[in-house]
Amino acid sequence: MILLKDCFYVLSSGALGPSADASARGGGEAAGAGAAGGAGGGSSGGSGPDGLRSVDILIEGNRITRIGKSLAAPAGAKVIDASRHVVMPGLVNTHHHFYQTLTRNLAAVQDAKLFDWLVYLYEVWKGLDEEAVYWSSRLAMAELLKTGCTLSSDHHYLYPKGFKDDLPGLQFAAASELGMRFAPTRGSMSRSKKDGGLPPDSTVQDEDRILAECEATIQKYHNPAPDAMRKVALAPCSPFSVSERSMRDSAELARRYGVRLHTHLAETADEDEFCISMYGRRPLRLMEDCGFVGQDVWYAHGIHFDDEELDILARTGTGVAHCPSSNMRLGSGVARVREMIDRGVRVGLAVDGSASNDSSDMLGEARQALLLQRVRYGSAGITAREVLGIATEGGARILGYEKLGRIEEGWIADIALFDVMKLEYAGSLSDPAAALLFCGYDHGADHVIVDGKLAVESRRLVGADEEELRMNADRVSKRLLEKAGVTR
Ligand code: ZN
Repeated sequence: MILLKDCFYVLSSGALGPSADASARGGGEAAGAGAAGGAGGGSSGGSGPDGLRSVDILIEGNRITRIGKSLAAPAGAKVIDASRHVVMPGLVNTHHHFYQTLTRNLAAVQDAKLFDWLVYLYEVWKGLDEEAVYWSSRLAMAELLKTGCTLSSDHHYLYPKGFKDDLPGLQFAAASELGMRFAPTRGSMSRSKKDGGLPPDSTVQDEDRILAECEATIQKYHNPAPDAMRKVALAPCSPFSVSERSMRDSAELARRYGVRLHTHLAETADEDEFCISMYGRRPLRLMEDCGFVGQDVWYAHGIHFDDEELDILARTGTGVAHCPSSNMRLGSGVARVREMIDRGVRVGLAVDGSASNDSSDMLGEARQALLLQRVRYGSAGITAREVLGIATEGGARILGYEKLGRIEEGWIADIALFDVMKLEYAGSLSDPAAALLFCGYDHGADHVIVDGKLAVESRRLVGADEEELRMNADRVSKRLLEKAGVTR
């Protein structure tokens, strides 16, 4: 049991505003009344900008059970003074490539665009081994947790020949050691250079093997429970690294098991050209033909959809993982998030892989989303509360969680606490929630609660020695780069 005492400001669902709520509920999966759940806590309810102030939050088991003024601490409860904090639903990361933490910031591709960047890095990534997957997963999740993220996906699509261990098992082990809620995808690649794709032959698998391993991963790790700590989705990598048959097979297998589907789509203009020349169709049409659209599907990026395609996403309930830092870093373009929200397209936020961000700073990513939409649409392009809605409940819906992403009684206790009584927030506290995006230079959370348990306490990971983690990740990175002949 945990009692969050005297919370300075609680970002409740009522504080997220109507647009964010609409995007979180898009595609016809209605989410209840949407009123703030504060019991006697001065909730504004509805869509007002003010969250709850000076309330206590009681967490029992993995749920938020009471929100109110002056709650008595039950016997045995851990009491956390939250009088300096913005208390918000844990951030949700809908797309990542954890293994890339070992190859970030490589000089040779700091200024490359997507296809050139991939072709260079595949030659390094083909040396990935068991130790690299384990430590990179721990490292990425550690950064995510420390910046307020409680639930993350991952998209691991590289299964180099000779990789012996159960790769998803290494990632799930890292997640449970850190106490993170983890909904990764079992990725895949089946179209290598010899078939006109981008990856080297040694990093792809044949279609039958992919299907068999995907099925085994679902059977072994997927938990369909609404509060699962482990879920699995299937994710053929992209139209330029998998065959059409793999896309179709994955969609059919996912439907058979009731798991979700994910891929990269509409990231660059080069991809449009590739799809038209390889398949005679634009990327989204290809996905429609493969049965790879729907409420159980989300795409990473979604930058280059035209008007008609945005309407298809809205109509089918297909979601988009918006990755602003990666899109800027690779110069891929600006996703039309404003128009997606207005059309009812489901949107989540994501940091993307660490070779194109090159960080797993989840609160920082929310700030990037706020600013980047304004480059495209002007100063009213997106509000802070819309971004916070996308980054919490919006992402949770995309990953298949219904009662996660709000501070509300009965909802899952995934919560981040940020101290705003610091220099960088002084003068900004007329609107404490927006201050997290408009101000600040240190995105570290003080405390992070996942499934009712502390995963970050007083700015330190509970489930790992941070220095040991840093040294191991850096050691394995050095070994991986040396194997590929990259000097450091
Ligand atoms: Zn990606």
